[in-house]
Amino acid sequence: MEIKVDRERCISAGMCALTAPGVFDQDIEDGRVVALESTPAPERESAVREAVQLCPSGAITVVQ
Ligand code: SF4
Repeated sequence: MEIKVDRERCISAGMCALTAPGVFDQDIEDGRVVALESTPAPERESAVREAVQLCPSGAITVVQ
């Protein structure tokens, strides 16, 4: 799995960081998403897919 985040689309809702905390965080300055990993480990994939579903702005994309 490879993920991309679009910080321009992010509205700082924080669902990603709550759902997959080892993969996503929020910028301390503006609250927008920060991807801690672009290729999450297999055991984190289900949490990442849940974060994609929960993100209200569609800012997270699973590339492959
Ligand atoms: S859930 Fe979406 S909108 Fe919210 S911080 Fe994460 S990427 Fe941004």
